[in-house]
Amino acid sequence: MTQVINISKWKKRLSEFAKIRDWGQFHNPKNLVMAMSVECSELVEHFQWLTSEQSLNMSEEQMEGVKEEMADVLLYMLRLSDVLDVDIEEILEMKFKRNGEKYPAEKARGSMKKYDKL
Ligand SMILES: [Mg+2]
Repeated sequence: MTQVINISKWKKRLSEFAKIRDWGQFHNPKNLVMAMSVECSELVEHFQWLTSEQSLNMSEEQMEGVKEEMADVLLYMLRLSDVLDVDIEEILEMKFKRNGEKYPAEKARGSMKKYDKL
């Protein structure tokens, strides 16, 4: 199993995939975000009506569908980051740090409260 994702490689592959299909004309940020939202909903659909227990014990067939939609969401996010020239590594660092500040472990441990209610 690959442990490192080469984000630049995937951005380039997606860009070429779109280019040879002349899809660049459709890949503006608005359309990409909307498409990603649709894919998020397709992912959610796999879990709709399941109990928590069932969601933890999905069949191989169910997991194949989940994986496919996870990939769709991620591919659109990568394409969006390319079109908007956003550095994924940079925003992950920024947001991870911010979340750590908003949810200090000593306050947030075992709590599902939002940061402003801690
Ligand atoms: Mg899909």
